[in-house]
Amino acid sequence: MSIGSEVVVLARVVVVGAGYAGVMAANRLAAVNRSDVRVTVVNPRPEFVERVRLHEHAAGVANAVRPLSGLLHRDVRLRVATVDAIAERSVLLDDGGALDFDHLLYAVGSTAASGLAGSENAWSIADLDGAASLRTRLRQLPARAHVVVIGGGLTGIESAAEIAYRYPSLRVELVSQSVASGLPESSRTIIERKLANAGVVLRTGLRVTAVRADGVETDAGRLPSDCTVWAGSFDVPDLALRSGLPVAPDGRLRTDDALVCAGHPRIVGAGDAVAPPGHVGDQLRMSCQAAIPMGAHGADTVLALIRGERPAPVSIGMTGQAMSLGRRDGFIQATHRDDTPREFVLSGRVAAVVKERVCRYTITLMRFPRAYRWLPGPTPTAPAPPPVAAR
Ligand SMILES: Cc1cc2nc3c(=O)[nH]c(=O)nc-3n(C[C@H](O)[C@H](O)[C@H](O)COP(=O)(O)OP(=O)(O)OC[C@H]3O[C@@H](n4cnc5c(N)ncnc54)[C@H](O)[C@@H]3O)c2cc1C
Repeated sequence: MSIGSEVVVLARVVVVGAGYAGVMAANRLAAVNRSDVRVTVVNPRPEFVERVRLHEHAAGVANAVRPLSGLLHRDVRLRVATVDAIAERSVLLDDGGALDFDHLLYAVGSTAASGLAGSENAWSIADLDGAASLRTRLRQLPARAHVVVIGGGLTGIESAAEIAYRYPSLRVELVSQSVASGLPESSRTIIERKLANAGVVLRTGLRVTAVRADGVETDAGRLPSDCTVWAGSFDVPDLALRSGLPVAPDGRLRTDDALVCAGHPRIVGAGDAVAPPGHVGDQLRMSCQAAIPMGAHGADTVLALIRGERPAPVSIGMTGQAMSLGRRDGFIQATHRDDTPREFVLSGRVAAVVKERVCRYTITLMRFPRAYRWLPGPTPTAPAPPPVAAR
């Protein structure tokens, strides 16, 4: 709204975190071109980290960092800082500053899971600092050095294959209970064969109990390691918990089905760090595939709240699980919208090309936030009835 030449800001929106969800949300808010909504993004660094490329970054085949200035809408303000606490109507920053907000979008993402004994002896692939330091370490290793990758999920699979192809003189082992455990047996067999083709030694059926400076302890004995890569599950930052906001047992911000934080109508969440109720969110596994539409929906929810309207429930369908296996091989498992596997799979070079295009496409989507549409979710199951009060 403008009175004479003066622009009156009706709503100050602070977006905490400039990952996939935060950038999409901020850009979509700004793209509706309301001069009366001021959007400020707070992020610890002035760069966007393409986390989906961190295994490529670690192996030295790609750069996962790009300036946020080239990605954020021109009307979005960037404040380089870390949010230390979220108060009633303001956020407190680690540089001693504070930002007041009318609406806050919580999009702090995820980090490497903690809790593994000796994890300080491993390089994490879940964040830029870990991946950058791993890149340096891999370059220093002599031929035939042992690299042990812990974790048989998609991140561990991609990391092991990428390192093995980039450094064929190293001995790369993937240690896990199982490989790609959520996928059908036939898909797992193909992935295991592809890992073997890459030169990765599979050690499945093992549970890692501790990481040492020179090896990995498992329930079946010790494996020597000159460089251990931690690619286990993700944790979320404890900012919501520390700020006294309602969280799920794993620390994710609890929201209603429109992504509004339970009991805090000015706070909306999106991405890995958020736990919507199961009837709309069960299929939303931590992924940029879910974070981008969650960010877009979060922006629409904030706009509805600014207009005094009731926000719509979130509805997001999943499409598949895609993994690169080095630069020339890959595997894609198509899924139903509820993230359960379909029969269709893509494999080999064509899958590698599709996966690469998907990674590039995520950046394009964030640059055209207003036009962005996504696949609706599966028919929601009925929300669980409220518990009956005990007499
Ligand atoms: C190696 C690897 C490969 C992957 N491959 C795929 C893939 O192929 N497909 C897929 O869908 N997903 C993939 N993922 C997962 C995907 O990267 C994440 O799910 C996605 O990044 C989540 O997006 P987000 O916006 O929620 O959080 P993030 O991208 O993690 O961004 C969160 C942002 O918040 C910032 N932040 C955190 N705390 C604060 C604070 N207190 N104050 C201010 N800012 C803060 C962080 O610095 C970060 O910039 C992969 C992940 C890894 C590690």
